Amino acid sequence: MSEEPGKDTSQQRPKSKLPFGNMYWIYLVIILLLFSQYSRISQLAVEEITWNAFENKIISDGDAALIAVVNKERAEITLHSDRINSEKYPGISPSDKGPHFFFTIGSVESFENRIYAAKDKYQLEDIPEIKFVNRTNWIATILSWVLPIMLFLLLWLFIIGRIGRSGGTGGMNPFDFGKSKVKVFDTDNRSKVTFEDVAGLDEAKFEVKEIVEFLKNPDQYTRLGAKIPKGVILVGPPGTGKTLMAKAVAGEANVPFLHISGSEFVEMFVGVGASRVRDLFQKAKEKAPSIIFIDEIDAIGRARGNALSLRSNDERESTLNQLLTEMDGFGTNTGVIVLAATNRADILDKALLRPGRFDRHIYLELPNLVERKAIFKVHLKPLKLSDTIDVELLAAQTPGFSGADIANICNEAALIAARQGKPEVEMADFVSATDRIIGGLEKKSKIISPQEKEIIAYHEAGHATVSWYLEHADTLMKVSIVPRGKSLGAAWYLPEEHQIYTESQFKDRICAALGGRAAEELVFGEVSSGALDDLEKVTKQAYTMVAYYGLDEKIGNISFYDSTGQYEQSLHRPYSEATAEMIDEEVRKLVAESYERTLSILKSHRSQLDELALLLLKKEIALKEDLVQIFGVRKHSSKLSSKT
Ligand code: ATP
Repeated sequence: MSEEPGKDTSQQRPKSKLPFGNMYWIYLVIILLLFSQYSRISQLAVEEITWNAFENKIISDGDAALIAVVNKERAEITLHSDRINSEKYPGISPSDKGPHFFFTIGSVESFENRIYAAKDKYQLEDIPEIKFVNRTNWIATILSWVLPIMLFLLLWLFIIGRIGRSGGTGGMNPFDFGKSKVKVFDTDNRSKVTFEDVAGLDEAKFEVKEIVEFLKNPDQYTRLGAKIPKGVILVGPPGTGKTLMAKAVAGEANVPFLHISGSEFVEMFVGVGASRVRDLFQKAKEKAPSIIFIDEIDAIGRARGNALSLRSNDERESTLNQLLTEMDGFGTNTGVIVLAATNRADILDKALLRPGRFDRHIYLELPNLVERKAIFKVHLKPLKLSDTIDVELLAAQTPGFSGADIANICNEAALIAARQGKPEVEMADFVSATDRIIGGLEKKSKIISPQEKEIIAYHEAGHATVSWYLEHADTLMKVSIVPRGKSLGAAWYLPEEHQIYTESQFKDRICAALGGRAAEELVFGEVSSGALDDLEKVTKQAYTMVAYYGLDEKIGNISFYDSTGQYEQSLHRPYSEATAEMIDEEVRKLVAESYERTLSILKSHRSQLDELALLLLKKEIALKEDLVQIFGVRKHSSKLSSKT
């Protein structure tokens, strides 16, 4: 999903208000000041001298008046005031009351011994007065615990600032951690997407357009006593245009649109999610009437504490609780409507989906033929196209494709054409793009031995032959043994779109999928590992037929399908061991019968199978014309489409 450049509320803050950026120098200045103060005090203009100098020059002449022993380690000497003037001490001003010199003593005892020895040596009348002083250096003491705290604080601010910034747009200020990282689109920077850009999805568009109307003319609805919905949830498979639809609402509504993704609420710090939800709703209310759009709401809206609560996350739950509270908290007339999008509505908390919160559920499905055509038209518009483009065929060839897939095909086709230096995008480029998106990149360089190639050719020819003769198999378009992505060969069909499938349709599909393996057995007498994908498909199909659709006689009209997803989460099976065995048995029987049927089709059309395999070995690809030449015109076309 591409993001529209939204107005980031946190980035609109004037720079000077960012305390972190601008407070750096303040912290630095404080530290420097403290340091300079400390060093100034500790280095008061007192000259250091040695013991010898003290003994020979000062004590010998009886100049010392006082010796202050500070903290039992430093002796500070104050001279007699009448001696200061002498030429012996030229650097000392007469007004200086001292101390005038200092030296470091080893221990108090040795210091005293030395003093008394000096007294004897110089035959002094008395020793200078000695005073013991305890002095605390408060600045050094304070610095010793303030500095580490300050350093720790700086580091913390730095880390929080970093996390905030890396988390998105709102984290420039560490104190904005609990603020939501919402993007606001309003009159100055309206989203440029309109409902015109959303092709198909008419019913969904109608519902969404009504929301815009609610906000524009609330009176029209409330005058009869109706309440305006509070929340609308868009549900659908990935790429079906949920975000696009919300952007169109932003583009069309004349009210502020606040866009945030569900994952942006959840952070590793507890309580942040809830505070971000509060902040988001606060902002929306300030701007009311307004629309909040929460993309990927399943990130926070998952059902709380179920059987898989091992994985539950308290932070996410408190975020969800806050969301529930906020959605209850604003009245229908507040003018805030919450839009949300998810592709997993089944896992959302029931409390979130109840009327009064997300009142409206809009389901966006994969587009049908007509819608695909419309989506192609939207995405073909900006391309330079040749006249060969057949939008009808493009739409027909892409069943099961989402809007995002179609946008991707159009872009891929344009890239292929540009790579080949073509002036326009041609139909062939779209075919290559579709093949590439369905099957992956062609891998002509893959090393395949001649024996392997023969097996692959027969495998694909087997699929093609069986599906050609089966009544309900999809129409075959081409068969190729060019390796693509993970597959070594492929048969391309033009599926018809059905809303329901009959039992015989299911069975024919299973036979078509088994065609490859059956051909290998028929031709080579043994099977290979190449049928993995087919067997996976067949097994799943057979189990759904038996256990879900009630298409098995023995199991009867019973379905173990659980639309609420509770069985899946609780790891409980809703049936007995005996039923489980019966299901397995019936699935085996169904697949075995289908395989026998497939083999018999191939046996009766062996010459066509060989012919197609040889053609594939020669040309690597067989198109519809080649297939008609080998098999003749296909008799069967699905009858169901005309019945429904
Ligand atoms: P997800 O569930 O993965 O978030 P989504 O449903 O939000 O997917 P979008 O992001 O809306 O999907 O769609 C992706 C792209 O697909 C769009 O940007 C757009 O180009 C294209 N697209 C999807 N649906 C439509 C549509 N109905 N009309 C035109 N373009 C579409």
